[in-house]
Amino acid sequence: RDDRILERYSRGLRDREGMYWGRIWFYRDVTEHERMTERLVQLSRTDMLTDIANRRAFMEALAEEYRRARRYGHPFTLLMIDLDHFKTVNDNYGHEGGDAALKAFSRTIKPMLRETDQFARMGGEEFSILLPETALDEAMQLAERIGRAVAAIRVNCRRGTFGITASIGVSELQPQDADPEETLGRADKALYTAKAEGRNRVASA
Ligand code: GH3
Ligand code: MG
Ligand code: MG
Repeated sequence: RDDRILERYSRGLRDREGMYWGRIWFYRDVTEHERMTERLVQLSRTDMLTDIANRRAFMEALAEEYRRARRYGHPFTLLMIDLDHFKTVNDNYGHEGGDAALKAFSRTIKPMLRETDQFARMGGEEFSILLPETALDEAMQLAERIGRAVAAIRVNCRRGTFGITASIGVSELQPQDADPEETLGRADKALYTAKAEGRNRVASA
């Protein structure tokens, strides 16, 4: 009632003759411990720079969604996003500029997604989005919108203001996929197609 979390233990009290005298209850306040554990679990699933999910959290959500989609015969789609020429961004605007771009990117994309979508930083300047209950054509439209939104970002840092672009690979779960890594692998391939075709664009598997 007062938000404390208590651990409870009880046992019956008997005397040497086995006569029952009642029950004794022990309570231990584990509120601090539980809060700390929750916080640590949350930290282990979050990317500290962008404050979105990290690879670990994403892979867990993907495995879960894969099982669900298979069980109910529902679709899902994956977007793999890689910022273009990010090495040049760092070279021109420093690591601080690069970090500001990564934050601006996440801040822009987050409100474009649904509560049930999973948006994660997979590492470096690579992000992915899991879209449950979404088939390829709808995902492609979202990917195109994301691409335009990214191209419209202006990043401000000490060394100046600059724009960024992203390349996006899209893949939908296929009946023959043996595991979610196969779907992810195709999104990755599509991403490389988008890069090869000139960047700042969307390609599908
Ligand atoms: P491409 O268009 O082919 O993707 O070119 P690219 O330069 O983006 O690709 P590459 O993978 O060669 O470079 C990625 C760069 O991203 C290299 C690395 O310095 C930078 N980077 C990775 N993580 C971070 C980060 O957390 N902060 C900053 N500022 N830069 C990062
Ligand atoms: Mg890149
Ligand atoms: Mg990369």
